[in-house]
Amino acid sequence: MAVPKQRQSKMRRDSRRAQHDKIEAPNLGRCPSCSEPRLPHHACPACGYYGGNKNREGVVYESLVVGK
Ligand SMILES: [Zn+2]
Repeated sequence: MAVPKQRQSKMRRDSRRAQHDKIEAPNLGRCPSCSEPRLPHHACPACGYYGGNKNREGVVYESLVVGK
C-alpha cells in the first residue's frame, strides 16, 4: 500500500484545495438575435430566442426541439 513519505504543509494542502473549489465565471455566449450575453443551451433572458424559436416566458425549449 502506498504511504505518504512526508506530511504536506498546510500551504500545499490548501493550495491544492483552492484549485479544486474555486468559483469560475460562467461561460457566457452572445445571443445571435439581440447579442445580449446568454448562457449556452438556455433561452435568451432578454428576447427569449432559442434556436429559431421565440419563447417569451424564457423557459428552456430543449425537450420540444428533441421531439421534432
Ligand atoms: Zn436575445
